[in-house]
Amino acid sequence: MMISDIKERVPMQALLERYGIQLDRKGKALCPFHKEKTPSFGLYGQRFHCFGCGASGDIFDFVMMQEGISLPAAMEKIDTLFGLGLLGRKMTVRQRQNLREEERRRKAARKIEEKKEEKWKSAYFECADRFREAEKDVADLSPKTMEEPLSDAFADAVSRLFYAEIEMEEMEKEREKDVRQS
Ligand SMILES: [Zn+2]
Repeated sequence: MMISDIKERVPMQALLERYGIQLDRKGKALCPFHKEKTPSFGLYGQRFHCFGCGASGDIFDFVMMQEGISLPAAMEKIDTLFGLGLLGRKMTVRQRQNLREEERRRKAARKIEEKKEEKWKSAYFECADRFREAEKDVADLSPKTMEEPLSDAFADAVSRLFYAEIEMEEMEKEREKDVRQS
């Protein structure tokens, strides 16, 4: 199958370099799919993932998203960019059907990934809200003088802040694990 032939020959990082994306020492770069100031786009094996906008995929997804083209067009693009010469001959009907099937599966897979991403984001933002609220309470309720005793409300706010922070860290770890597996 041509998909795997191309994949074998073109490492994700080489493709990114073709598109002018250089990874920094931490293996991160500014995401080409959304505006950002700190890099949240990175490589996980042969897949890219952005923690900012949730964009992810392999070399074909990258070219499809970057150029706004279909899978067959992305294959041709990569074939040309890297001079692979794999698509020199005309595709057979069977190959075209396989490609369409592959494209359909990709779209479905991306939808599932997007849904998962949405769910994660809303849970994370909910937690971040609680964190900010606790942070504000801690500031408001902290004793203003050395003599003022610590109130229960202050102690409660401190513990809410503590747990919200742990929860957010756990969620970030979970997601990073998820990304590595996909
Ligand atoms: Zn992004």
